[in-house]
Amino acid sequence: MIETDVIIIGAGAAGLMCAHQAARRGRRVLLLDHANKAGKKILMSGGGRCNFTNMYTEPANFLSQNPHFCKSALARYSQWDFVELVVKHDVPYHEKKLGQLFCDRKSSDILEMLLVECDENGVELRLNTSVETIGKTDVGYRLDTSAGAMACQSLVIATGGLSIPTLGATGFGYQAARQFGHNVLPTRAGLVPFTITEPQLKALCTELSGTSVEDCVVSCNGQSFKENILFTHRGLSGPAILQISSYWQPGDTIEIDLLPHLDLPEWLAEQQRQQPNIELKTLLAEPFTKKMANLLAEQWFVSKPLKQYSPGELKAIAERLSAWHLVPAGTEGYRTAEVTLGGVDTREVSSKTLESLKSPGLYFIGEVLDVTGHLGGFNFQWAWASGYAAAQYV
Ligand code: FAD
Repeated sequence: MIETDVIIIGAGAAGLMCAHQAARRGRRVLLLDHANKAGKKILMSGGGRCNFTNMYTEPANFLSQNPHFCKSALARYSQWDFVELVVKHDVPYHEKKLGQLFCDRKSSDILEMLLVECDENGVELRLNTSVETIGKTDVGYRLDTSAGAMACQSLVIATGGLSIPTLGATGFGYQAARQFGHNVLPTRAGLVPFTITEPQLKALCTELSGTSVEDCVVSCNGQSFKENILFTHRGLSGPAILQISSYWQPGDTIEIDLLPHLDLPEWLAEQQRQQPNIELKTLLAEPFTKKMANLLAEQWFVSKPLKQYSPGELKAIAERLSAWHLVPAGTEGYRTAEVTLGGVDTREVSSKTLESLKSPGLYFIGEVLDVTGHLGGFNFQWAWASGYAAAQYV
């Protein structure tokens, strides 16, 4: 039987942070993962450059049924604390936009940095190890694993959410939470592309697949994001769509302002005065691509010279372009989602220590909890902050 102070299940972002920070305190830490490699999502993240944090992180960037929960951990380990670690390891980085910090080189710089910290602080990392059962003992927890029995005082669940099963995601953390009497809030895919099945709209998306429109405002359920959208073979994607997907429920309508930087009624009236003979589709090729302008002019409007539109028709064109309403058929689901919404109910976990209020010595960190960040480095910041917070108490 292996006996240690702390066992962390899940060597992802939160588990790696918690492991080296707890080991720095002198705790004997065993970090387990069923995968053959630690931090696979870190490697895949940010298009291979890992958007590891956001300069403007604040609690408002997170969704949770208990919105105050994330505040304590985020305040005690901020984005600047993580940047300090990155600087200490000479990892070159840059701000891409909107405070999003990315590696200059590749995501593996972040993973290697965390693995070095784990190694230097004496964390024992065991990969290819699956946990079969967890039991409670007088002094802590006992695990039956594929590598034999193990016992610890503190057990940390850092197994993440359900997104991208091919990267090792499982519902293990939710099962463990339920076993110890925790409520698990319904989960669904977040930061995920929409699928469209309505035939005319689907045809438009397919035709325009690969085309993006910059700085659209996408709104749903009282939330708005100004970012790019991208047409895909299956529907719509791009940062603004991924952001709003976390606020969308099946059946909800989303609204897209394709040209928020223009006062469209005024712009169209002005163009009619200045270029009365220009066709609508030619005019729309300025803000959009020619192909998109042609398709919109065909499908949404009757394209003709501007002088032939009545004021009422111009108003209708302006409204359609600034408030395009559509009901997605669904999302691409966990197969491509960046995160999982919902999870372990934070009302039963201490926001200060991340310890279970139901089972002393049991901790939950990272995405397994019902805390989900916006797109832009916030999800990693939650993993770092929650991992750090728990590490001070395990
Ligand atoms: P994970 O990092 O998912 O780690 C969980 C670990 O637990 C994994 O190693 C897994 O193998 C292990 N595990 C699961 N089940 C078991 C089990 N039964 N037994 C043992 N081990 C188990 N966020 C950002 O902030 N910036 C980005 O640029 C970004 N890009 C992303 C790109 C992609 C493609 C995806 C999918 C996500 C991205 N995210 C990004 C989100 C971010 O990766 C996650 O929010 C973050 O990794 C969550 O950390 P975690 O430690 O809680 O879980």
